[in-house]
Amino acid sequence: MQPLGLYVHVPFCSAICNYCNFNRGLFDAELKARYVDALVSEISSSHEPPATGRQSADTIYFGGGTPSLLEPDEIGHIIAACEAAFDVSADREVTLEANPETVTEARLAAYRAAGVSRISFGVQSFREEELRRLSRLHSVDRARAAIAEARAAGFDNVSLDLMMWLPEQRVDQWLASVDAAILVNPDHLSLYLLEVYPNAPLKDDMARARWSQAPDEDAAEMYVSAMERLEAAGYTQYEISNVARPGRQSRHNLKYWTDGEWFGFGCGAHSTRAGERYKNVASTVEYVERMASGQPTAIDRHPLSPAERLGDALFTGLRLTEGVDLDVIGRRYGVDVWQRFGSDLAPFVAAGCLMHEGRRLRLSRQGMLVANEVMAVFV
Ligand code: SF4
Repeated sequence: MQPLGLYVHVPFCSAICNYCNFNRGLFDAELKARYVDALVSEISSSHEPPATGRQSADTIYFGGGTPSLLEPDEIGHIIAACEAAFDVSADREVTLEANPETVTEARLAAYRAAGVSRISFGVQSFREEELRRLSRLHSVDRARAAIAEARAAGFDNVSLDLMMWLPEQRVDQWLASVDAAILVNPDHLSLYLLEVYPNAPLKDDMARARWSQAPDEDAAEMYVSAMERLEAAGYTQYEISNVARPGRQSRHNLKYWTDGEWFGFGCGAHSTRAGERYKNVASTVEYVERMASGQPTAIDRHPLSPAERLGDALFTGLRLTEGVDLDVIGRRYGVDVWQRFGSDLAPFVAAGCLMHEGRRLRLSRQGMLVANEVMAVFV
């Protein structure tokens, strides 16, 4: 059994980006103070009965929203609650997602003193016009400054998020952002394809300004070329959307892809542990009120069926470049994966999207472009 991961959701943002469909709302100082209290109560009440002892955990991940809108002492207070409720290992990874416009070197140093060991910046693009189209609050210069400030504050584990397939973005423009990211030398990068949701304000902005996204073939080229460029610069792809310097993979996110277990604290957070899965109410106000009145915050609590666990292990494991070990899965779930799914998977193997090498199954890079189709076999 791996140590647990602890996810802490922070649902506040200074402004709402036009493409966002995360669980978030506008910053409200009074609600934020009540929310931090609710988080600490939820973490403290997650103790197992004394007979079983404290469970071990080795990662804490503050995701959002914009977690860097919490003050460093609030982050420290939440980390202390985790330490009181769980046996958090000394070599823990503690990640804070941060937006570049919310930080200064002093604030980053205070987060580090509070126990944060890894910063993940939502940069999204190194081209000014693209940041404006996405209604982001920071500039390219602010993003570069934030990364330098994180280094000056002593962080040796810095990650960046970039988004491709932006409105009006051409392949060479996307690759200019990738090159700019390489120049600032992060330890880890996450690359996402922009998805324009039907009710996103960005959809209206695009219609009004007549912006369009490049054809699908260009999106595929953006993905493949970026991965090649990052590999040439010394990064290793380890997951569909993630590359890292050696030893700098996200230990927390790896739990989601390697059949691990985690607690999710805060509104809308999901938990998977002890054979069951549940999520908290999505509304920030309802979460705070339920915590204050002693009502349960979890909804949709259900035991994971063996089929669901097997599907999840395959679905998430195939996101990794190393894929899944069919022997390990077979022992854990008592099935011969190839016997059960082989006839549905064979066409993907024939097309070069899926590699079936001995007992290992993994997606090729081309296969990563059609990962959803391959993974639909398991769900
Ligand atoms: S900062 Fe992130 S979570 Fe907040 S609105 Fe923008 S994309 Fe959404």
